[in-house]
Amino acid sequence: MEITSLETIPLEHELPEGRGLGDARGFGRTRATTLVRLETDDGLVGWGEAFAPGSIAAATIDELFRDDVIGMDPFDVESLADGSYTDPYHFGGDVFVQSALSAIDVACWDIVGKSVGRPIHRLLGGRERETLTPYASTMYYTAEDRPLEEPIQEAVEEGFTAAKIKIGADPETDVERVRVAREVLGDDGTLMVDMNGNYRPHQAIKTANAIAEYDVAWIEEPVPPENPSGYRDVKAKVDVPLAAGEAHYGRFDFKQLIDDRQVDIVQPNLGRCGGLSEARLIADMASTENVAVRPHIWNSAVGMAAAIQFAASVSDYPHTRNVPEPMLVEFDRSTNPLRSELLEEPFDPAGGVLEVPQEPGLGVSIDEAALARYRADE
Ligand SMILES: [Mg+2]
Repeated sequence: MEITSLETIPLEHELPEGRGLGDARGFGRTRATTLVRLETDDGLVGWGEAFAPGSIAAATIDELFRDDVIGMDPFDVESLADGSYTDPYHFGGDVFVQSALSAIDVACWDIVGKSVGRPIHRLLGGRERETLTPYASTMYYTAEDRPLEEPIQEAVEEGFTAAKIKIGADPETDVERVRVAREVLGDDGTLMVDMNGNYRPHQAIKTANAIAEYDVAWIEEPVPPENPSGYRDVKAKVDVPLAAGEAHYGRFDFKQLIDDRQVDIVQPNLGRCGGLSEARLIADMASTENVAVRPHIWNSAVGMAAAIQFAASVSDYPHTRNVPEPMLVEFDRSTNPLRSELLEEPFDPAGGVLEVPQEPGLGVSIDEAALARYRADE
């Protein structure tokens, strides 16, 4: 089997004026990402996502990957990740190289799964779970005039039992946001907070200690991803587990996070970390240090499908029938048609349970009309 076609498809959606999404670093209205569509000589089609703007992803793929991918057997998928550090020498770990690799890698796994008639999680080391617990990413900062608790209230009404909220803009307001979220979620819910790397260590430590009484499962990106010493400072003074990974790319970045014990949870994004091959390597490295793996998902439905297949295959350590902290997968509750409209059967988190697709490959079908609606190049 040979890959005969590689198409990059830029996607974009812009929220209306005044409806921007906010994290601690500021507001944004545009969601942009890139899909890759591979086709083989026997007519199999595979999809992947580079969580990067279209023009950059396309140029990176054309410059660095296209010649190797056309004519390649998709079963040779893992050679791509290895090769990404050889050629291009010096910038293999770059975000755009690893994003481009992610899309091609996932698309190859999609084809491999379709070729052998199995979902990807069965090929990545076996079926660990058939359902997953989604957590709602919610309580963004917003310019809209709406009650603070309204978004997380909506998530609870949908059936979510776990949620992650944005904090980190100001230590003075962090505590109130967490208090409100905990009140709405109830004592049994799982609550995480995301500072989006907006703090210096002393600010993160101040907030972390102030919110400790609200039983927070993890603090995400307390300091910038480029600040490993900051992670070590925070970790030494805070009892709440730390998480990071959405801004780390490839095995070497993640090895540092894991080996230095900068965090308790690594969060590879399947559209940026290098793809499924690299994510499996990251999960294996994490397991040797008893670091948890919880994929970051702020992608289109294709990246989400890849993350769900990956999450279904990740084993816990120590291996136990009584897992105290079950696998969680992120489910953004902000408006994003690239997530909610791109599949013929969109992922449904209703009732707080997410079914892992059992059909071959990624187990999803692209809605071509929706794809055409959000293409940024037509
Ligand atoms: Mg985050």
